[in-house]
Amino acid sequence: RVFTGVLPAWDRVEEAVQDAHRRSSSAADGSVADYIPALANADPDLFGVCVVETDGAVHGAGDTDAAFSIQSVSKVLTYALASDTVGHDVIAERIGVNSTGQSFDSVMAIELNGGHTMNPMVNAGAIATTALLPGADAGERWEILHDAFSRFAGRSLELDEDVYRSEAEHNQRNMAIARLLESYGRLDVEPLEIVDVYTKQCSLRVTARDLAVMGATLADGGVNPVTDDHVVSPEACTATLAVMATSGLYERSGEWLFEIGIPGKSGVSGGILAVVPGKAGIGVYSPPLDDAGNSVRGQRSLAYLSRVLGLNLFASA
Ligand code: GLU
Repeated sequence: RVFTGVLPAWDRVEEAVQDAHRRSSSAADGSVADYIPALANADPDLFGVCVVETDGAVHGAGDTDAAFSIQSVSKVLTYALASDTVGHDVIAERIGVNSTGQSFDSVMAIELNGGHTMNPMVNAGAIATTALLPGADAGERWEILHDAFSRFAGRSLELDEDVYRSEAEHNQRNMAIARLLESYGRLDVEPLEIVDVYTKQCSLRVTARDLAVMGATLADGGVNPVTDDHVVSPEACTATLAVMATSGLYERSGEWLFEIGIPGKSGVSGGILAVVPGKAGIGVYSPPLDDAGNSVRGQRSLAYLSRVLGLNLFASA
C-alpha cells in the first residue's frame, strides 16, 4: 500500500455522500446523449453517487448499481495500462499531454499539431493509446484490456452488445481519425482493428460503484483497495491523474479544475470518475448532460463533495 486514507471520519463521509445525492437530485437541466439510439434510451432519473476510500470503505447513495456503458471514462484506464506497459517517456512522446482546445473528436487537433496526437483524453490520443497496448493482434489486445478493466473494478465486466453494435455502425469519424493518424505514421497497427477495440472499450458496462473502485485504485498507487490486486504501477497512476486534470471534462476541463480541484473524467453516457490522490475514488452516474457532454448532476454532486470534505488539491487551508 503506497498511500493511506485520510478523508474525514467514516460517518462524516457517509453523511456527505447522502447529502450530495439529495441536494443534486433536483437539478433538472441537461439532456441525455442521443448520437446513438442505444444511449438515447437511458433513464434520465437514474442517479448514483459512490465514494470508495483507499482503505476500502464504500459509501453509496442512490442508483450505485445501475449499469451503463463506460464511454470516454475508459480513456483513463487504457492510458494507465499503456503507461504501465511502455513507460513514462514513450507515452509522453507518442501520445502528448497538452489539451487540444478542440472538441473531443476533432480532426483539426491532429492537423494543427503536425499529425501528432496531443493528449489521451480525446479520441485521437485515446485511439493511439489503445494501439500501444501489448498483444499480437486485436483479439489479444481486447483480452488484455478487458482483463485490466475488470481488475480495476474488482469484478468481471461485461460488454454491452447493443451499445457496441450501435456505435460500430456510427463510428466513421473515429475510423477517419485512425486513418489520418496512420497517414502520418503515428499508428503501428491496423487502424480499423484498433478502432474496433476502442469501440468495445467504450461499450463495457460499469456502475457508479465500479467507477469509484477504479478511481480508488488510481488514488492508491495502482492497488485496488477492495481486492488488494496490484493493477498498475504508482508511476502510471501519477501520469494518468495529470492528463485527467488537464483534459478530463471536454471543453470544461479548466472550469472543472478551477471549481472542484481534483482530476476527473466524464463520458457521454453520464458517468464521471474522479480521483482524490491518496484518499478516495468517486463515481457518479446521471445521464442528463450539459452542452459540453458532462453529467449535470455528476458535476453538482462532485462540487458539493469537494467543498464539504475539503478535497480541492489546490487548497492549503
Ligand atoms: N464512444 C464515444 C466516441 O468515441 C465516446 C464518446 C464520449 O464518451 O466522449 O465517440
